[in-house]
Amino acid sequence: MNWDNTTLFSDDNPADAAFRREVRQWVDKNCPENLRDRPSRVTPPEMKPWHKKLFERGWIAPHWPREAGGMGATLEQQLILFEEIARIGAPTPFPHGLNFFGPILIHAGTPEQKARHCPGILSGDVTWCQGYSEAGAGSDLASLKTRAVLEGDHFIVDGHKMWTTNGTHADWMFALVRTDAEAKPRHAGISLILIDLKSPGVTVKPIKTIRGDAEFAEEFFDNVRVPKENLIGPLNGGWKLATMLLGGERFATGHPRNAAILLNRARQVARVTGADADPAFRQQLAALEIDLLAFTAYYRHGAALHGLGKVPESMTPVMKLAAGPLAQLASEFLVQVAGPAGASLADMEVDGEAVNPAEDLFEMRRVTVGGGANEIQRNILAKRALDLPS
Ligand SMILES: Cc1cc2nc3c(=O)[nH]c(=O)nc-3n(C[C@H](O)[C@H](O)[C@H](O)COP(=O)(O)OP(=O)(O)OC[C@H]3O[C@@H](n4cnc5c(N)ncnc54)[C@H](O)[C@@H]3O)c2cc1C
Repeated sequence: MNWDNTTLFSDDNPADAAFRREVRQWVDKNCPENLRDRPSRVTPPEMKPWHKKLFERGWIAPHWPREAGGMGATLEQQLILFEEIARIGAPTPFPHGLNFFGPILIHAGTPEQKARHCPGILSGDVTWCQGYSEAGAGSDLASLKTRAVLEGDHFIVDGHKMWTTNGTHADWMFALVRTDAEAKPRHAGISLILIDLKSPGVTVKPIKTIRGDAEFAEEFFDNVRVPKENLIGPLNGGWKLATMLLGGERFATGHPRNAAILLNRARQVARVTGADADPAFRQQLAALEIDLLAFTAYYRHGAALHGLGKVPESMTPVMKLAAGPLAQLASEFLVQVAGPAGASLADMEVDGEAVNPAEDLFEMRRVTVGGGANEIQRNILAKRALDLPS
């Protein structure tokens, strides 16, 4: 039997247990087969039908309040949905609109902005991307140079963004731009604006990754006119919103799902290659599963604190520091278990499913960089939690 991350939590009350059963059955019946346990990431067009099904069922935004069109779910229900979707290796819907921008829009958007953008995020009809990073501004995000100058009732945007996940598919970008070049400190001159990527002057170019896909893009902005009403929050007040969003992003990317799926896959592959008869395999698997178990318990505790608004500042960087390397170790283990097939870029067939350990290995290289590199998480811990000198 697969290691099941949901059996860890037998603390569901009767109502939650019933909800879990309902979700389990529904997800199993409704998630398209071709999206389960995919060796590669799903593209936005592939994701849309699954997103729509969750939307139509009313489960697309469990963490959004009801008045914004969400489910207003309890934290337990949110976790149950997340765990049951992960359990069958189904993809979680793209986070950029639902998890990163949506909560900021609900928190800081005007009623008109919410009415305009919430429905498209929820239905999945509008794809969003995050325009933060630039060629010279990744870890040192406050040095970003893309500028937006207010002229009458429009911002004129010039500059360049890169490493934008799903940039080639996105309709809209929530972007951090410099609106005051003289501001000191630098982050006091940054605003959050919404850019329609079909506007004249926007050029989107795909960036090919080590794995051969073009999940990322870069965008060039040349004299792009963005209506003034697309400013979110106050002028020059974007940094606070941006860091609030990054906290949510690290929490989302720091979950144990990747490692759990990869270890299940390693078990499957080991049955085929015969590695499961090897005591060394069993020992390594047990060690990784113990780490996963401990980390999952920590994540759950963190999620409970998050629900109470009491997450200590140190917790999100720790999650990201634990989740990424654990997923990387699990992907290396999978390659090892696959034997010679692990070194090939071709799919191997396991129980009628395509498994590609090398692609998983490449995929997991990214998780210690996206959302802020692990070295930066260590800096945050050193400065803010341990009070160490810079
Ligand atoms: C999977 C993935 C998805 C992404 N999606 C998006 C997206 O949708 N939108 C977006 O805007 N960006 C996105 N990014 C970009 C991401 O935010 C940046 O790659 C990240 O912040 C690091 O910036 P950088 O690539 O410029 O590296 P750099 O900042 O140049 O860092 C290079 C190396 O130096 C280290 N380093 C830098 N400064 C320090 C320091 N002060 N102390 C110690 N070490 C340091 C870093 O840890 C890293 O190892 C994504 C990246 C990945 C991998």
